[in-house]
Amino acid sequence: MIIILLGPPGAGKGTQAQRIESSQGLVQLSTGDMLRAAVSAGTEVGKKAKEFMDAGKLVTDEIVIGIIADRIEEDDCRKGFLLDGFPRTVAQAEALDNMLDQKNLKLDAVIEMKVDDEALVDRITGRYTCAECNQGYHDVNLKPKVEGVCDNCGSTNFKRRADDNRETVSSRLEAYHAQTAPLLPYYEAKGILKVVDGMADIDSVTAQISDVLSSLK
Ligand code: ADP
Ligand code: ADP
Ligand code: ZN
Repeated sequence: MIIILLGPPGAGKGTQAQRIESSQGLVQLSTGDMLRAAVSAGTEVGKKAKEFMDAGKLVTDEIVIGIIADRIEEDDCRKGFLLDGFPRTVAQAEALDNMLDQKNLKLDAVIEMKVDDEALVDRITGRYTCAECNQGYHDVNLKPKVEGVCDNCGSTNFKRRADDNRETVSSRLEAYHAQTAPLLPYYEAKGILKVVDGMADIDSVTAQISDVLSSLK
């Protein structure tokens, strides 16, 4: 199965992708995670991407399309994958269509996670992750069971993203509305757009997504 999770920054894409990855065995492909890894490794891609990311702007299509094109060739993608944070522009969506056509694969569904802009600021400013295993948490909405200890791996090391601050959030939301929202009619026209209520609590959103995935089987 090939699925896209589409929604604004902070909508819950990464949170749900981690859950689907473990329950359905679909590998999560997050361009944001891949770009952050490139930035911290100091690669050429990372050097080019950093200033866009710090400013809350989208990295160029050329860079992210290249990253995804390479990634989906890897063995673990053969059974399908879940795209989180890609595509984010119509040019990226068209490039993905071409990549899948060439491999004789098809996109099964695009799941839109609908969340009000007002809720996103709190989600983003309260977000943090385990520095060891990348498990996501939130200051208020999703705390580890034991304070300061990762549920998943027991680490006591956590990190916050440099771009998860109030100033950058507004440019990221603008980028979403201007450049990514046009993907909704694009996929609607293909008849594969499914909408879930991302304002619901985390478990209810997981249940809504599971229903969509079951309806595809
Ligand atoms: P995205 O990948 O779409 O940017 P995340 O999955 O990282 O978003 O979620 C952003 C923050 O909001 C995280 O701290 C996460 O724990 C929290 N969160 C995710 N889904 C919900 C939800 N349905 N209700 C409340 N908080 C949520
Ligand atoms: P969020 O879901 O909170 O917006 P991501 O981790 O998906 O965060 O993305 C973080 C940043 O990485 C974006 O603001 C953007 O600069 C860059 N980025 C990630 N994916 C893409 C993409 N598909 N196209 C362009 N830029 C991207
Ligand atoms: Zn952990």
